[in-house]
Amino acid sequence: MAIQSSEAIVLNRIPLGDTSLLVTVYARAFGKVKLVARGARRSKRGTASLLQPYQVITVYFNHRTNRELQQLSKVEAGPYFRQIGEDLTKVAYASAVCELVNRLVLGEEPGEALFGLIFRTLEAIDRQSAESCEMLFWRFQIEFADVYGTGPEFTSCLGCGERPEETSVCFSPALGGILCRDCQAQDGEAMRISLGTARLLSRVRELPLENLTRLKPVRTSRREIQRAIRAFYLFQMDDGRELKSLKFLESIEEDSRERRQ
Ligand SMILES: [Zn+2]
Repeated sequence: MAIQSSEAIVLNRIPLGDTSLLVTVYARAFGKVKLVARGARRSKRGTASLLQPYQVITVYFNHRTNRELQQLSKVEAGPYFRQIGEDLTKVAYASAVCELVNRLVLGEEPGEALFGLIFRTLEAIDRQSAESCEMLFWRFQIEFADVYGTGPEFTSCLGCGERPEETSVCFSPALGGILCRDCQAQDGEAMRISLGTARLLSRVRELPLENLTRLKPVRTSRREIQRAIRAFYLFQMDDGRELKSLKFLESIEEDSRERRQ
């Protein structure tokens, strides 16, 4: 069978034996694929440095259906997001994007839409300031759910379909959207957020990526958005484990707060 190739983004890698790597990628043509890179850790061609999370590469492999692991035969460098590696906050958010995809995508699937979304997000993290990364990650998480048709609803009440007018609404992570006062009993676990926060979330979804930084969420809105999106994803990832990359991020933020004091 002929060797196939695809553009791909590295999601994760782990050592395999003494010299090899088990690399998980999201490939434009195949979706999530696990590749065995034999001898990669001994290769003098720099193969191992290409096979790191958030690197864009072209992979060549003999694609066999019904096989969990594929043999990587060649890898080429793709566009390189140099500025991500120069900032720990950017590294953390780029890693969080890859980790989330790795956790939630189960196997091979038509990958064009999600590949494009991951690529655009990494490109924006590379190009924009470290401060904008959090909003870029909110946007990524909303659009990621949109790709699978499970994107949360922020404008109309899930119960009655009306646009709420009251100053606060409830966000239901389980139902995936907001509930007005009359319908809030549909989910007793739903969390209260201000209507302003719900509107801000709609804007996060709709604005062009380069304009996201125009949104200046006040601290309470920022906290409400963090809580709502985190709860939504914890609900999707039924093992209830937080993302490792975000824990890392919290620890570096704590460090810099301590240094400022
Ligand atoms: Zn309602």
